[in-house]
Amino acid sequence: MNIVFIAPPAAGKGAQSGMISKKYDIPHVSIGDLLRNIDDEEIKKQLDAGAFVDNNIIEKLLVNRLLKDDCKNGYILDGFPRNKSQIEIYERIKNISNDKKNIVIVLDVLKELGEKRIIGRSVCSNCGLVFNDLFEESKPKVDGICDNCGSKLNKRKDDNKETYDHRYDVYMNETKPIIDYFKDHADVYHVDSSKSIDEVFSDITNIIGGFND
Ligand SMILES: [Zn+2]
Repeated sequence: MNIVFIAPPAAGKGAQSGMISKKYDIPHVSIGDLLRNIDDEEIKKQLDAGAFVDNNIIEKLLVNRLLKDDCKNGYILDGFPRNKSQIEIYERIKNISNDKKNIVIVLDVLKELGEKRIIGRSVCSNCGLVFNDLFEESKPKVDGICDNCGSKLNKRKDDNKETYDHRYDVYMNETKPIIDYFKDHADVYHVDSSKSIDEVFSDITNIIGGFND
């Protein structure tokens, strides 16, 4: 099965992709990771010269990745397609490595909740455990200190309201409209991502379990 994840920021897309990847033994193909780990000198040069990543580069990176052996039984696409201009590429390459079924999973989360998940977040400087001051169940026992190892908790620079709101607006304006396209051209499933990670995972595995490939 080939899965496309579409979700606003802080819906848990990264975490769910990782868990699905492990359970079904299909790779998590994140366009963000591909862009961070480019080994093509020519593309690197282009990116260093300006921030804009054009669709030709995205397509080239994805084709190279999807043609690798581990995608033969399916894959999870995270961060692509991001806007309407990328749908054409998606249609061209989605079955480049296999003839598996393609499904689209949309993780729905309200802006207010996503915002709390980001603004309250702090991360242990030592063991990487994540806490959140705005949720009773994920607060550290001692303010600013990791429950697990006693080290200091840090806030990430981008974990603020302005950055979150901007990313959310970009999602609403550019990415969400492609769901309308997929409604008519693919199997689209909505999952309520305001639930816990484990509940969301269980909902997703129920969807995937309904298919044979
Ligand atoms: Zn720690």
